[in-house]
Amino acid sequence: MAAKENKKIKILVCGGINGHIKTFVEYIEKLYIKKGMFDYVFCVGDFFGDDESSEREWEEFKLSGKNISVPIYTLGPNKKDHEKYFQNLQDQQLAPNIFYLGKDGVFTTSDGIKIGYISGIQNDDNKENEMHTFNYESISQFKESCIRSGCLYLDLLLTSPWPLDVRNKERIPENQNIKGLIDKVTESSLVSWIAINLTPRYHLSGMQKVFYQRSPYKNCNTKIMTRFIGLGDYNSINKEKWMYGFVLSPLEFISNQINYTVTESPYSSNVSQYIAHLLPVSKQFFYNTSTNSNYNKDEPTKKRKFGLQAAKQSIHVDTESCWFCLSSKNITKHMIISIGDQVYMAGTRGPLVKEHIFIATIEHYKSFAEVPPDTENEINLLKSCVNKYFESTSRVALYFERSILSAHFQLQVIPIPIRMIERLEPMFKSKFKEYDLNLVEIPPAASLRQITMNTAQYFCVELPNGKRLFHNVNKKTDGIQPRFPLHIAREVLASPSLLNVKDRIDWKTCQQPINEEEMDVKLFRQAFAPYNPIKD
Ligand SMILES: [Zn+2]
Repeated sequence: MAAKENKKIKILVCGGINGHIKTFVEYIEKLYIKKGMFDYVFCVGDFFGDDESSEREWEEFKLSGKNISVPIYTLGPNKKDHEKYFQNLQDQQLAPNIFYLGKDGVFTTSDGIKIGYISGIQNDDNKENEMHTFNYESISQFKESCIRSGCLYLDLLLTSPWPLDVRNKERIPENQNIKGLIDKVTESSLVSWIAINLTPRYHLSGMQKVFYQRSPYKNCNTKIMTRFIGLGDYNSINKEKWMYGFVLSPLEFISNQINYTVTESPYSSNVSQYIAHLLPVSKQFFYNTSTNSNYNKDEPTKKRKFGLQAAKQSIHVDTESCWFCLSSKNITKHMIISIGDQVYMAGTRGPLVKEHIFIATIEHYKSFAEVPPDTENEINLLKSCVNKYFESTSRVALYFERSILSAHFQLQVIPIPIRMIERLEPMFKSKFKEYDLNLVEIPPAASLRQITMNTAQYFCVELPNGKRLFHNVNKKTDGIQPRFPLHIAREVLASPSLLNVKDRIDWKTCQQPINEEEMDVKLFRQAFAPYNPIKD
């Protein structure tokens, strides 16, 4: 441990260069002599200029062979006219040692610092995305890929536009009155939405042509504080500060003491308002805006509600006798693989195949829709580790939850040979059709909490590509509710073109003797150990 303690990386972020590349490079090279080298140099805002002289400067610069001692990484274009500079690049290289970061993505440095970036400006019209724009679809994919790769927060987020609302709840008076804020194009509700979801420790943006260092703000449901910094442009008439250097250590080495004027989050607690108007019309109905859901309540009450009320709502099942409550006397202890802070993992009774396991909460929650956010984070982390383990054996994980006639949340995890991936979606769809049951795809960013309003009975399967198919029991409108076939997912998976275990559809008919169960759990625990985020 002691050897790791001083991990620190030096980062420099610069605002819009606007094509003044030659003098910019000269400037930062001089800066290195004075302040020492940086580990990373990033540019946000407009890297290229609009006039002919800046175009000439760029051409000359490329030919000059000027030495750049630290690679410069820039976000992509914010206008159509600048797209030409970023097209047909070799190895993302704009010039020697100047790189285009790409449209969006996240990378982890060798020191474990997680850096996420989004190029371009928001495309509000649901038009086809262009190189210089991002939209709801691309941003929610970005968010999903972060979570699937185990990134539940970011150390640094780089965007060109500012997040909408970021100046709300500001305490410092001179910060409230920053002048010269520009047009709407340079603010983005999707950037706010991603900042809420990925809670960056630092968030830097450009494009407003003013310098603004916000008081650090708290995020909901996490201890992470965010510092937002808006940068001015290099060499501008108003002489606004255009660069910001800082030192980052991995989160594990940060002490908890807070000695800043920390404010509440500037963003609205009604998170869906940042994306609701951007959803394709067919998906908008999923977002309930009623105040019935835990998530739409005012922030201060949120934690309390999760702590008390969520537990109370489901107390009708006695945790003493619940089969899945860890504290229950009925729990089959020999099936448990690993116990985390709020979640545990266990072998399934009557498994479809070997290594068919499930993830459940230690406390009694009826469904995933009731699970509080920090528990959800732990589940997501566990899922990303299970994915990695299965991938190492040429399989992928299929997850499903049946919150219908089920007392305690449990997420079934079934390994599927990778070559069968394509068959899953059509087979689930046709099986539901056969039973005359609805099954719809839910938007990648929608949380089950928003969709189900906590009380609903539902079935949800998550395919290996991250797509979720959802069946809502309460959605039937003609009054007649068909009986839900409890084994429907097992029925699909057991079919000859998938796992081919027709005799195992009903778990009760294929229970194993206890010593076999013990052996299976032991083998899984050993095989999964290198991937298991839960350390004993
Ligand atoms: Zn329970």
